[in-house]
Amino acid sequence: MDFSSKFLENAVNEVSRLPGIGKRTALRLVLHLLKQPKEHTKYLTEALTQLRNEVKSCKRCHNISDTILCDICSNSNRNEEIVCVVEDIRDVMAIENTGQYRGLYHVLGGKISPIEGVGPQNLNIESLVEKVKNKEVKELIFALSSTMEGDTTNFYIYKQIEKYDVTTSTIARGIAVGDELEYADEITLGRSIINRIPFANSLKS
Ligand SMILES: [Zn+2]
Repeated sequence: MDFSSKFLENAVNEVSRLPGIGKRTALRLVLHLLKQPKEHTKYLTEALTQLRNEVKSCKRCHNISDTILCDICSNSNRNEEIVCVVEDIRDVMAIENTGQYRGLYHVLGGKISPIEGVGPQNLNIESLVEKVKNKEVKELIFALSSTMEGDTTNFYIYKQIEKYDVTTSTIARGIAVGDELEYADEITLGRSIINRIPFANSLKS
């Protein structure tokens, strides 16, 4: 791509680094910004800078939060003894949208994936095992997507906590294997949390 402006080229290069955005789309977005009032770009860059500087990880559940404890963890109406294990904040948002769950979450920050070089030590697993060890949790609900990585991660955690006094369950999904949790519709997802099944029953013999 030949650019008539170095500034234009720089902006296109930066935007095209975002996932799913090729050079052409980046150019379209940058040209769009150029046509808008200058404030729009200012608000955008301010929002992104603030996001990077201010956003925290909740001390308890590792969800993205503006405060040390996220709104869910600091809500005294939530049942602290039930913890739903999810991959990232998108799953928390999906489950919250169902309005069917009143427990807390534990955000792993990904799934075990040897191909992508993600091992258990790269995820928030140790702090979860600690919660179980310290008897802070009565029930763990595994709600990772039912992909191979999700199953591997569930099983790894299950093996770590099996010896402790904790109930483990998994959401009974009516959706095909491989579907990501965030795409499940709210009614199906809500129902699958209510109708969760003991984790041991989900293991293939
Ligand atoms: Zn939290």
